[in-house]
Amino acid sequence: MRRILVVPIGRVFGPWLERFLQDLSNFWQAELELARPITPPAAAFHPRLRKFFAPYLVDYLRSLSRDVDYVLGVCGEELYSPRSPIVFTEVSFSSQAALISARLLQEFLFGPEPENVFVERLRKEAIRALGHLLGLGPCSNPRCVMHPPSTLMEVDLKGTEFCPECRIRLRLFQIRRGEVRGLL
Ligand SMILES: [Zn+2]
Repeated sequence: MRRILVVPIGRVFGPWLERFLQDLSNFWQAELELARPITPPAAAFHPRLRKFFAPYLVDYLRSLSRDVDYVLGVCGEELYSPRSPIVFTEVSFSSQAALISARLLQEFLFGPEPENVFVERLRKEAIRALGHLLGLGPCSNPRCVMHPPSTLMEVDLKGTEFCPECRIRLRLFQIRRGEVRGLL
């Protein structure tokens, strides 16, 4: 069974955290460990943008544990990268780590149970992050969970499942790694 360490960064605690961990563990059939929350390293902070540098932070996560398959950071701060001033999710294939900005996903919540909207967004981005770490690329299908969002609306529009093409690709990666035998 895969082992994933989930690291809260900054102020990201809430009653939703337990539900998020359970969801993710069920989806990936993985063993999840919750790390003690950390303060984001000051070296990653850009004082003018008031954001943290995602590529640095995601590699820093791996230094927290070498014993798990993947490290997933859930960050209470906004992130930026050389590619974009707005980063929902940053993935480092070489570190086998990913980082999600919960701070961004908590904006513009709606409906009678706004927390559910937030947990659903977080779930989608966590599934996408681990999908990338397992070898999947970005998907152009706006309904597919592997679609890289550039706005919150795109996060809300996409589903929590893989499109048929991504599902087959993922299955092929699993076969190659010897985790499963057949396509079905
Ligand atoms: Zn897809």
